[in-house]
Amino acid sequence: MSSATQEKQRKPDTQVLIVGGGLGGLMLAAICRRINISCKVLERTAELTPAGAGISLAPNALRVLDQMGLYGAIQEHGQKLRSIKIHHNTTFWRELDFNMEPWFKYPVYSIERHLFHHMLYEAAGGDETVVLGAKVVDVLDKTDDAVVRARLDDGREFTGELLVAADGIRSVVRRILARNSGMENAANTIRFTGRVHMSGYTQPLEHLSQSDLGVGNWLFFDDSVLTTWPCIENRQWYIGVKVVDPSSVRSDRSVWENTTLDTINDVYGKKFHPFAEHGRFEEIVNKSERFVASNVFSELSFPTMSSGRVALLGDAAHSMTSFFGQGACQAIEDATILANLLHRHFHSSSSTKNIPDVLKKYAREREDRAKAVADFSASYAKIHTANLPLGTGPLIRKLIYGYAPAWVWMWYLKWLYGYQPSVDALDKKRQ
Ligand SMILES: Cc1cc2nc3c(=O)[nH]c(=O)nc-3n(C[C@H](O)[C@H](O)[C@H](O)COP(=O)(O)OP(=O)(O)OC[C@H]3O[C@@H](n4cnc5c(N)ncnc54)[C@H](O)[C@@H]3O)c2cc1C
Repeated sequence: MSSATQEKQRKPDTQVLIVGGGLGGLMLAAICRRINISCKVLERTAELTPAGAGISLAPNALRVLDQMGLYGAIQEHGQKLRSIKIHHNTTFWRELDFNMEPWFKYPVYSIERHLFHHMLYEAAGGDETVVLGAKVVDVLDKTDDAVVRARLDDGREFTGELLVAADGIRSVVRRILARNSGMENAANTIRFTGRVHMSGYTQPLEHLSQSDLGVGNWLFFDDSVLTTWPCIENRQWYIGVKVVDPSSVRSDRSVWENTTLDTINDVYGKKFHPFAEHGRFEEIVNKSERFVASNVFSELSFPTMSSGRVALLGDAAHSMTSFFGQGACQAIEDATILANLLHRHFHSSSSTKNIPDVLKKYAREREDRAKAVADFSASYAKIHTANLPLGTGPLIRKLIYGYAPAWVWMWYLKWLYGYQPSVDALDKKRQ
């Protein structure tokens, strides 16, 4: 073997090789770029086309986004949540004050998902950092190899000092790790819950006024629940959840490829919505710019978030129901904690030997919190859908949503939103 070939085998393409250019992978890349850690993102899709509907960003994620200089754009293009109106069928229960700024310094912002994704893509360095059309099919982390390798379906190979799997709920890397450690059962750890999301992002609703800006809606129907989040210009991001006949859905697919507006209207079209001009939700659905339907999965077992020089991040490690809008926020927390540990490592040592220990530390710091949020999200889903033992669901839901004062909500949510990790190296730069 020539010495040039040997050198290439020893020297990685980058320090941090990230599989998956979704919200978590791009957030990690954006932080790495700011704190001078080299990274490359391998993303299977060939281009970043507008996809999905909206996303809510909570205080626990906004602190680091602020630090990264992205908060101004989120404020400009997103909508701050002020309050939530709660209805049961057509009966108005109450308007809950949901302005979190006095409690957590940041509110909740709803923003078009694609726009936020694009912001992160730019912050990560765009095509200098992200390799599009790069579908990873294998990962090799051998103890006698100086680098970790990711192999693509077209035969290309990329190497890093470590690899971060941010490849989403059906993580290929997670399956490879399970296979390598002989845990065949761990390969498929998500289960279809029998529920389906239908989600969309609308044009501006011209008939609404300034006073409607920032007002969300929780609508509890007897057979489904529907939430609309206010977005900029009185656009609405809606997300409905309904139990479906499991045999009507292919459980291996997350997206109902043939969903049309009629599919959504068949379920929700005739239902009440306070923002619809004539009260029927189809008036809002028919103004959708984009819509998507996806099966809701739950996690059966949480994998450990590191193995050797490979770490799992975001949905690849801890997918959760979307009821409390925390999946991406947790991926952002993961990225922040991991970047801090990597910064400390790379600035104190050039040895790659300690990387497994650094990643173990990351796993220790993140696993309990992510699992607690996933468990909370699952429990909250039961209250939200009034699905509690002994038929107590409707009463408990009514007590919590109908009567619990806003301060009780905020006080309870301190553990979730009061934790606001930030990038240590950027804090130091400011001092
Ligand atoms: C309807 C709905 C509403 C939601 N609302 C919210 C919300 O309001 N707030 C919130 O915080 N979260 C929300 N979530 C959850 C949130 O979308 C996810 O938790 C978040 O996107 C996870 O980010 P990720 O980077 O881990 O995975 P993803 O964003 O799924 O990204 C994974 C990426 O990996 C790529 N990839 C996959 N396999 C490979 C491969 N083999 N090679 C290369 N690339 C690969 C994919 O193409 C994708 O780009 C919602 C989810 C749903 C379904």
